[in-house]
Amino acid sequence: MAFTPAPQKNKPGKGSIKFSLWWMYAIVFLFIGGILWFDNSSVSKEVSYTQFEQYVVRDHGITQIIIQTDKKQAEGMLTDSLAQVIFNGSYQSTGNIKAKVIANISSADKLSDQIEKWRAMGAFNGSVKYEQSSPFTSLLWSILPFALFIGVWIFLMRRMSGAGGGGAAGGGGGIFSVGKSKAMLFDKNNSERVTFRDVAGHSEAKTEIEEIVEFLKNPKRYTNLGGKIPKGALLVGPPGTGKTLLAKAVAGEADVPFFSMSGSDFVEMFVGVGASRVRDLFRQAKEKAPCIVFIDEIDAVGRARGKNAGMGANDERENTLNQLLTEMDGFGSNSGVIILAATNRADILDKALMRAGRFDRQIYVDLPDLPDRVEIFKVHLRKVKTAPGLDIDLLARQTPGFSGADIANVCNEAALIAARHNKEHVDKDDFNAAVDRIIGGLEKRNKITTAEEKRSIAVHEAGHATVSWHLQFGNPLVKVTIVPRGKALGAAWYLPEERQITPSQVLLDDICSLLGGRAAEELFLGRISTGAANDLERVTKQAYAMVVYYGMSDKLPNLCYYDSSGQDSIFTKPYSNDRAQIIDQEVSRIITEQYERAKQILQQYASGHQELAETLIKREVIYTADVERIFGPRQWKSRTDELFGEKKDEGEPTPPPIDVEASEVQPA
Ligand code: ADP
Ligand code: ZN
Repeated sequence: MAFTPAPQKNKPGKGSIKFSLWWMYAIVFLFIGGILWFDNSSVSKEVSYTQFEQYVVRDHGITQIIIQTDKKQAEGMLTDSLAQVIFNGSYQSTGNIKAKVIANISSADKLSDQIEKWRAMGAFNGSVKYEQSSPFTSLLWSILPFALFIGVWIFLMRRMSGAGGGGAAGGGGGIFSVGKSKAMLFDKNNSERVTFRDVAGHSEAKTEIEEIVEFLKNPKRYTNLGGKIPKGALLVGPPGTGKTLLAKAVAGEADVPFFSMSGSDFVEMFVGVGASRVRDLFRQAKEKAPCIVFIDEIDAVGRARGKNAGMGANDERENTLNQLLTEMDGFGSNSGVIILAATNRADILDKALMRAGRFDRQIYVDLPDLPDRVEIFKVHLRKVKTAPGLDIDLLARQTPGFSGADIANVCNEAALIAARHNKEHVDKDDFNAAVDRIIGGLEKRNKITTAEEKRSIAVHEAGHATVSWHLQFGNPLVKVTIVPRGKALGAAWYLPEERQITPSQVLLDDICSLLGGRAAEELFLGRISTGAANDLERVTKQAYAMVVYYGMSDKLPNLCYYDSSGQDSIFTKPYSNDRAQIIDQEVSRIITEQYERAKQILQQYASGHQELAETLIKREVIYTADVERIFGPRQWKSRTDELFGEKKDEGEPTPPPIDVEASEVQPA
């Protein structure tokens, strides 16, 4: 399953006014505009002095003369009629645009004498102005480009370092704060205080973590006995399971400041920045001790060192990690700074991080099981106006494999759907719609599928359903629709069992039912399509994993070529070329065998399959009940089956959609 829950990280409002790119645009725009305006306010032409004299004496066409004393130029403002002649009619006399001619002169004195003569002749009777370009303006013009350039540069530096966004703790600005940590500080008096009450489930994790809270509240009790308090704990688990939430709850319960930072925040394009940010973070933390430092996604810095060396390994990241290790060793265990870090990939972390005295505790935060899901629903339904009698148990059963974040998302989505229909309360249908939507994306009823396509999707989906129904470990179908949804043209919901270990027979049955779609296309349509691409990808991965990771093939039994420590180079395979060939053969053998098996089952139940496909074409959706009607009750009952069956006897009309198994890739 590939959910992408949107993590709702609550970052506190950014303090300072955002120095946005738009300001930069505005300044540049004004600058260019200004230049254009100055140029546009007059049309001018350079002429020789003789010409200039002609315009005055012969044409009487100059109304005003401006003498630029230090540029040694004379500007003559033209009458409209003369301007028309000089500028060939391209000049339109409008209010503020003036036409002028400019001539170089030998000296201002001489010209002023000359002007007196012109006046005497009656050739010129306008005013004369003397202008001196002020030293200030000329200075400004020579400095402005540099100022602008430096401004842009500083701006870019600020953006790169992110300090312009107003790092609450880093403070300060400019290029000098690159090395400051960008940690976000949640204080006691922060409004979004999280307590253990907001964290549902995770009872083991909570007990572990309560000890940390105890220490922060009452350090003496531990240190008096000579005990050392763990410096750090690592929260390990898939995304959205509430690691951040747990860490915040620790801070909230213990009433201490909480520094939050993401591992990727340490990484910057400048050398040495990461390390200096680590130093800065710990300096701040020590000032505020006792406190909690939370580093989210620590794998961004904590990945095992020396991996992929030779590919220009990221020295910068190594430096950052080294600094982090040094700092963790540096402060005594009773300094009151506790580091919590979260990752979903503990396997790739550097071993040095995990040794005793650093993150010596690992707390697993797994996907919630059924009772935990009920609890999580309860937490998130506190704020939702639910219809009376809403069955929270049922909701939890419908959402296997959902993380806490997914459940939060379901609750929110259901409320939105109910609001869209102007309902008073959020009821069961809204929740079902929300689950469907989160699993499969939006229904797109107007996406056009031809009758032919519809038929082939129906045959394909009915193939999956038929095969999995007749396999001992097949996941029973819950709902199949051929209404396009999101990117997929059809979607199927199957109910997988929640298992901790998987017997090889289950894996084979999985492969077989995944191949059921393609097999049905081949058998009953006589042609195959791209619609099975997604299935095939999963099949291949599964078969490969069986051979290479689980040692389940006949020719290569009990061998595992997986390196869980992640220290392997990606370029060298741990097996020989001969082995590679055998692996490929085994993978193809498994897939071929299962494909044949799927075809056999389909042939055996061909009429049932056809009926199922016809129903699907007619109704666009089928449920467990339809499959049961056609094939009779399932031969094998699994644990989850019983769970589900019980509920149905209590009078559930149609089984609600449960966990999605696969949505078919859209045919190209
Ligand atoms: P992670 O850090 O593990 O990726 P988060 O702590 O950011 O996940 O969780 C995201 C959101 O999911 C939380 O804000 C909360 O609303 C919800 N959530 C996750 N797990 C739980 C839980 N156990 N109880 C209540 N809410 C949860
Ligand atoms: Zn399929």
